[in-house]
Amino acid sequence: MTIATHEFDYVLEAFREGTRFVVTSHVSPDGDAIGSVLGIAHLLRGMGKRDVTCVLEDPVPRVYTWLDGADAIVTPDRAGGPFDTAVLIDAHAGDRSGRSAAVLNGADTFVVIDHHLVERADGHVKWVDPTYAAAGEMVYDLFMRGGVPLTKAAAECIYTAQTTDTGSFRYSNTTARSHRIASVLMDAGIDIRAITERVIDTMSRGKYGLLQRVLGRIQFGAGGTVAHAAIYANDLAETGALPEDTDGLINYLRNIEGVRVAMIFREAKDGKTKVSFRTQADLNAADICRAFGGGGHAVAAGATLEGTIAEARGKVLAHLRAHAGLDV
Ligand code: 5GP
Ligand code: MN
Repeated sequence: MTIATHEFDYVLEAFREGTRFVVTSHVSPDGDAIGSVLGIAHLLRGMGKRDVTCVLEDPVPRVYTWLDGADAIVTPDRAGGPFDTAVLIDAHAGDRSGRSAAVLNGADTFVVIDHHLVERADGHVKWVDPTYAAAGEMVYDLFMRGGVPLTKAAAECIYTAQTTDTGSFRYSNTTARSHRIASVLMDAGIDIRAITERVIDTMSRGKYGLLQRVLGRIQFGAGGTVAHAAIYANDLAETGALPEDTDGLINYLRNIEGVRVAMIFREAKDGKTKVSFRTQADLNAADICRAFGGGGHAVAAGATLEGTIAEARGKVLAHLRAHAGLDV
């Protein structure tokens, strides 16, 4: 019997052939970025590869520092090299990885593994499939297809990726496959309560302070179907919150009855504004964000715009008026 060659076979082939690996993901890494980068590192070590460097532009958020291998993640300037094989996961374009892009481009083989809605991906070997709820689930399939033993440490990375990108298996991207994978991860010995406590059910005092401010400044438009709020740099300074503490705050807006579009505008570096988007299924968030040079998934996406929060908000609201017929 022959088994049809799948895109992930080319990924595995590149992994088998490589000797010096660098693995990275997007800036402002979330649980899927961290979990899938570390998951790939575990996979490669399981394949007998000893020279694997994990690189991320931004620090590992505190809630993920306990994952096996997180302490060895370095910033791009400390990556070393040269590398023959570079892996970008949970992103499709080298520039999403910040300064790691130079490291990716310097490798002989550039592998891209992603689950975002994309029109075109970078890389020599690409596996892009938006049916996966998390890039971590793609790592799981590489373990299975590659016949690499799944360790408990790797299973923890994959579960962390899944639970963050699916909102604890509650978002619309969650599939039967997600649950099937999670069941195997549990069989590998992971403690889902302990992981959930560390990753999901812990709010720093800084985040609490930020949440308080955000909830107090939500603005509604279009008959209550649009909700947005702003986070300024001094909010972080004054509450003691870290950039990572802005993660997930948008859900509080999205969950308000009647809201179809939720947005958070956040003051970023260099006079830029980061916008996070959550929409109901009838409005494609990735399409909206692509108009501003960003992207993401159908119901969760983001972009970074030039200019102040007020300027960015003006542009985005004008776009929603013109293209989504919303009276905002
Ligand atoms: P978040 O709003 O949580 O930062 O991001 C939601 C989704 O949109 C994530 O899947 C994330 O990867 C994607 N996303 C956020 N910001 C950007 C961006 O600037 N560019 C692209 N291509 N995707 C983004
Ligand atoms: Mn992801």
